[in-house]
Amino acid sequence: MSRKKIIAGNWKMNMTPSEAVKLIETLKPLVKNEEVDVVFCVPAIDIIPAVEAAKGTNICIGAENMYFEEKGAYTGEISPGMLVDAGVKYVIIGHSERREYFAETDETVNKKVLKALEHNLTPIICCGESLTQREQGITIDWIRQQIKIAFLNVTADQAKTTVIAYEPIWAIGTGKVATTEQAQEVCGAIRACIGEIYDQATAAAIRIQYGGSVSASSAPELFAQPDIDGGLVGGASLKPDFGAIVNYNK
Ligand code: PEP
Repeated sequence: MSRKKIIAGNWKMNMTPSEAVKLIETLKPLVKNEEVDVVFCVPAIDIIPAVEAAKGTNICIGAENMYFEEKGAYTGEISPGMLVDAGVKYVIIGHSERREYFAETDETVNKKVLKALEHNLTPIICCGESLTQREQGITIDWIRQQIKIAFLNVTADQAKTTVIAYEPIWAIGTGKVATTEQAQEVCGAIRACIGEIYDQATAAAIRIQYGGSVSASSAPELFAQPDIDGGLVGGASLKPDFGAIVNYNK
C-alpha cells in the first residue's frame, strides 16, 4: 500500500492576516510537489484570506484547533461548521501546546476527532511524550494510551482518512530533532496500535507524520522511513525552507 506523503505547516500564533497572504504568495511557487499533500494550518483569523490566497494552488488550508460542539454559548470558540464554510479541509487536534496551555485532554481530543470527522474535516491528531516519559522508558505505553483514547468510537473507515502526528514534546521548537530511529520506532508502534484497534488494512492506510524541529536537512531521512508519511512542521513552515521540506524527495 503506498501512502501519499502529507506535509503540514503549523503556524501557531504567528502572522497577521496581511502577513499570512504575503507568506502564502512567497511560498506558493516553492511548495509545488505533486507527490505530496501540502497543508498550511493557520490561526483562525487568517483562514479566510489564506483560503483566498491559496486558490488555484496545491496548498490546502487547515485550522490549528476547533471546538467539539455545533454552535451556542461557547465564547471565543470556532465550530467545525464554520471551518468547513470558510474552506478549511484539515484541523490539528490535541497539539501538545493545546494540552499544556489550554488544558486539553485525551477525552476532549476524542470529542474533537469525532466532531471533525462528522463534518468531513481531516483531523491531524497529535500525540507525543515528554522528556521525563522518554527517560522513564514509558514512551510507547503513553503513546498507545493517547491513540486508543483519541480513536474511541471512530470507525475503521473514518480512521483510514485521519492523519496522526507523532510529536515528541522535547523536540518541539527546541531544535532537538528525534533521531530517525526514535521517530520510526514510535511511528511503527502507532501503526501497530491502529492495527490492533482495527485491522491491517486500516493500519496500512492511515498516514503518520513526524513533528519536532523538522528542517530541510532532517526531512529526507525522516520521510524515507517506512512508517513516516510526512511531517508536521512548526518554525520552519514560516520560512522559504518549507519549500525545501516539501521537496525533500527532489
Ligand atoms: C509543531 O508546532 O508542531 C512543531 C513540530 O514545531 P517545530 O517544528 O517548530 O518543532
